[in-house]
Amino acid sequence: MHFLPASPARPWRIGLLGLVHETNTFEAGQTGYDAFARPADREPLMRGAELLRMRGTRSVMGGMLGQLEAVARAEQVEVVPLYRASAAPSALVDGQAWLRMRQEILAQVDEAGPLDALLVELHGAMVADGEDDCEGALLAALRERVGGRCTIVASLDFHANVSPAMVGHADMLVPYRTYPHVDMHATGERCARRLLACLATGARPARAWAQAHFLVPLVSQYTGDGAMADFMQACKERARRDGLDMALCGGFALADTPHAGPSLAVYAPAGGEAAAQRAARDLMALLDTLRPQLAAPLHAPQEAVALLRRGERTLLADVADNPGAGCGAQSTALLCALHDAQVARSLVATLNLPDWAAAAHAAGEGGQFTVALPGRVQPVRLRVLTLSDGRYACTGAMWAGREVRQGPTARLAWGSVEAIVASAPVQALDPGALACVGAKPGDYDVLSLKSSVHYRAAFGPWAQRILNVDARRMPGQAAPSLAYHRLRPGVATHP
Ligand SMILES: [Zn+2]
Repeated sequence: MHFLPASPARPWRIGLLGLVHETNTFEAGQTGYDAFARPADREPLMRGAELLRMRGTRSVMGGMLGQLEAVARAEQVEVVPLYRASAAPSALVDGQAWLRMRQEILAQVDEAGPLDALLVELHGAMVADGEDDCEGALLAALRERVGGRCTIVASLDFHANVSPAMVGHADMLVPYRTYPHVDMHATGERCARRLLACLATGARPARAWAQAHFLVPLVSQYTGDGAMADFMQACKERARRDGLDMALCGGFALADTPHAGPSLAVYAPAGGEAAAQRAARDLMALLDTLRPQLAAPLHAPQEAVALLRRGERTLLADVADNPGAGCGAQSTALLCALHDAQVARSLVATLNLPDWAAAAHAAGEGGQFTVALPGRVQPVRLRVLTLSDGRYACTGAMWAGREVRQGPTARLAWGSVEAIVASAPVQALDPGALACVGAKPGDYDVLSLKSSVHYRAAFGPWAQRILNVDARRMPGQAAPSLAYHRLRPGVATHP
């Protein structure tokens, strides 16, 4: 790649920072500063040179650093690590926590001195008490700080709810292109390459942006197959044909905010506004035609269990209680349905039930204890199979190398059914989620995972059949509706 001038007068100073949270505004409670300082399934908050610990990791920041430092070795770039905070998906961010992190970021930027560019890792669906659009507000504040001459390029999660402020204040947005997100590192690299290209040419891309008129649930955003995969392919082909760059985001529907939903930002070489606008318009019209295929029928737990066929490896995706979307991961509806139908060789993972995990550790392996379950008069007796401290290093394609610390963890038996319980809400998407308590997929015929789509990266090949389940539904009932009040007018909450 020939991004760099032959003999730069001085190295470009590129500031590196990140603020990452996917906010489920429908969950009760608030997410405090501590959730960013010490998250259970990701890196703790880092300031300044601490960020260099991400070097060599398969993360977005690892990709950004690797790409920049490859150039820095030629003494054309000075990397200025500033700040990074990330928390697991959860409820609305506490207003004070958001303002504190925003202030800490701006203070680091001020302290860094003059910068030629900022490379920013964002999620794109962070909402705080008092701020519907944290990323837009952060990019606006950064732009005000560093001025119009500084180039700002930001990475996004595929589930970003992109706003006009985000498009307007960043020179480019660069989202993941996969769900499950197996391209975090590649996105970080691509983001850095786009930034270097902007610096080398001194030109900012022309841009166009469009939003869909409907929300798409997570479970319909799988990019390996189906309507979203078809749409992504169409975007890629159009980008190739017209020499454009596409920032397609599926959006995060569990956010009652003005700009929730799928969006497409199109970037063209300077002067190419008309081509970018045509592409954005044509592609969003195509997305409209795919709408019926983006609807996702979900089964009630008992209905899904009734559909199981003996000897067929079946994955029940508990999509409505996915901690990766900020849900609590405490529903026992599928556990009860599997137990009551006496389904053999079945496992539910991973429940976030600290009380059960503590009771299991107190009872010891081979011991027993009783718990009360919603809707049951009699307490239920559980047997402890294996115990773990809940620490594991991820080995799957998505989180490879990441350290999970989900607290005291146990694998329990209730009749024919097994369950893994942990002491923090961590999505069961990595083989380590099972391996940490001595289990593996091959031990079971039925896996029930609290995950919408990410499980597909590690457990998809195991499954002969996948059923999507809404554990909040009773048989024969429609899915409970989420009440939206802040969504922009005219937007449908389902495809
Ligand atoms: Zn995501």
